[in-house]
Amino acid sequence: MRTLVLPDGEHEGFTLTSFSNLGLAEPLLRAVAAEGYTQPTPIQTEAIPAILTGRDVLGTAQTGTGKTAAFVLPILQRLANPCERTPRRACRVLIVTPTRELANQIGANIRAYGRYLRPSLAVIIGGAKPGPQVQAVAAGVDIVVATPGRLLDHVGTGAVRLDHVHTVVLDEADQMLDLGFMPDIRRIMAKVPATRQTTLFSATMPKPIRMLADDFLTDPIEIALAPTARPVDRVQQQVMHVDHAQKRGVLVDVLKGADVGRSIVFTRTKRGADRVSAHLQAAGLSSAAIHGNKSQSQRERALAAFRGNGIQILVATDIAARGIDVDDISHVINFELPNVPEAYVHRIGRTARAGASGAAISLCDVGERGLLADIERLIGRSIATSAVVGAPAPRSGAPAGSGRTRPDAPAATKTRQPDTARNRRSLAGSDRRTGNRAGSSEAVDAGLGRVLSGNGKGPRGRRQGRSNASASA
Ligand code: AMP
Repeated sequence: MRTLVLPDGEHEGFTLTSFSNLGLAEPLLRAVAAEGYTQPTPIQTEAIPAILTGRDVLGTAQTGTGKTAAFVLPILQRLANPCERTPRRACRVLIVTPTRELANQIGANIRAYGRYLRPSLAVIIGGAKPGPQVQAVAAGVDIVVATPGRLLDHVGTGAVRLDHVHTVVLDEADQMLDLGFMPDIRRIMAKVPATRQTTLFSATMPKPIRMLADDFLTDPIEIALAPTARPVDRVQQQVMHVDHAQKRGVLVDVLKGADVGRSIVFTRTKRGADRVSAHLQAAGLSSAAIHGNKSQSQRERALAAFRGNGIQILVATDIAARGIDVDDISHVINFELPNVPEAYVHRIGRTARAGASGAAISLCDVGERGLLADIERLIGRSIATSAVVGAPAPRSGAPAGSGRTRPDAPAATKTRQPDTARNRRSLAGSDRRTGNRAGSSEAVDAGLGRVLSGNGKGPRGRRQGRSNASASA
């Protein structure tokens, strides 16, 4: 079965429903109301009843569509049913995600949606000291949210066992594929019981993800958001053709614009992020850089300041920006275009979240026009030129060049070191895989992480709940 969810909230002949019609228990209805959600998003309307039936679900949905609540709410409902005690070192629900930020984000969402049910929760991510993670699961835990590498480390030492898992969620599966986690995912799936419910979410459905679904999902209900519901379509996109040397000055001018509020500036490299952030600060703008060479506490501090309006601008690399879920971002600025066109879609999806609108401005120098052409091909439209500064205007407004490679471009993807077995170090002794290591992974399972356990109390509202969760995590 395949359900296509239409962009305007109507799908398969019936209109959007309310949370109470989805079969959710009262403590969950109270929790979503406390979050300020009045109506389920289309993916929630489809996925929640499907997951509640116990069927496997294969969902095509991007971040920003409300997919986290779509799988977390029915999972919490199932956990609320009385059952046997979870054995020591075991968990009942396993959620696997590509990045530590996303893992923390999902952990915060579970706390918020589960505030009246109080599930026990452990977030297991690379870079953090293993000891607290081992402790968090020692007595058995309802839910583990994990990045693949560290989870396998713990499984290898016997600190975590997966033989009591009844529900698995593979989130952002295409991102896990991009980061080289497929072998780890298959190893993990080989260790969970065959009789389990599996949900797989992916923004795109390339062949390897389809094969993964074929191998590990049983007769899944398929749900796909219609392409026009993508955040990319709600974002007002512009390109400024700018001389390379003038980019920083133009960036300052753009950010000082009257309509520019909380913004994320993307650079291709970690050093570039630092340099741009320093330049913005020198120009009197409040900013912080966030990337894989920053420690987890530095990243959390920068994010908390960004959420709390302590700083207006976050300068980020692609991987560091994964899982950043901050509302009300008015602008995404591409100081440099990404080498991989799909990253453009992820970047601009940081604005226009949860149905809101937003603007994305790309500063494109002559050498980047091929990358721009790749992006336009991917999104199936040309991006309007809003200005030409010091650079020759592209012919008839169309981007020049064609290939996705740019000889002079730093190959950002080459610096990634996914947390595969090859790149991992032993858990014995202190964990040296911090984000501070030179050349360390932007990717995710590295850097200082945190353990969340128990149920957070108090935070009201989405934003407060999140920053609270990451601060206390
Ligand atoms: P996600 O796609 O799960 O990352 O969610 C994107 C954003 O949508 C998050 O800020 C959620 O808090 C928010 N959200 C999720 N469900 C709803 C809803 N039904 N109504 C309003 N906002 C929502």
